[in-house]
Amino acid sequence: MKGKGLKDLFSMQEGDARFLEELRREVGDQEPDVCFQCMRCTSGCDAFRFQPSYKPHQLVGFARLGLRERMVGSEVIWSCTTCNYCREVCPQRVAPVEVVKAARRVAVREGRTVEGHRRIAGYLVQTGHLVPVSDAVRRQRERLGLPGDPPTTHAFPRALEEVRELVGRTGFRKLLGGERDG
Ligand code: SF4
Ligand code: SF4
Repeated sequence: MKGKGLKDLFSMQEGDARFLEELRREVGDQEPDVCFQCMRCTSGCDAFRFQPSYKPHQLVGFARLGLRERMVGSEVIWSCTTCNYCREVCPQRVAPVEVVKAARRVAVREGRTVEGHRRIAGYLVQTGHLVPVSDAVRRQRERLGLPGDPPTTHAFPRALEEVRELVGRTGFRKLLGGERDG
């Protein structure tokens, strides 16, 4: 469903009202519509500092116009570190981080993920950790008098089986494209 009066006056791209509705359902009680583009979110955003093409105020603007491809079709949405700074400083009822996460969920459902994130998500299935404990960290822990393996799936292989089962039941593994089952 295109149009319904949604149009980006810079690019003259028409917005997708259905995508806007989809995003609204995803963001819950956030209200991207009330953003007045003050740019406070972008001014202190860490992701923007490291990647200037990532601008949360701009993504909220795209969301308001239903510009699906500018969000879901862009790898830039994966740059957010989910630090929540933008949520804290927004003078309106908008948390750009939630808008970005909503766009990510739509993208993942459509199989549009990026390799780096698929790899990290795969670690969860393989080890029960998004960031597995490395040998260097193990040695460091032992120097501090701690067991090398923390009391997680690393120390309790049975818990890893449970994590894998949960990952399977929630459909997460399928979202990863069935990769890295082991
Ligand atoms: S801080 Fe809030 S109102 Fe300002 S641009 Fe960002 S989302 Fe919009
Ligand atoms: S949560 Fe994301 S968008 Fe918000 S300030 Fe942090 S990095 Fe930027």
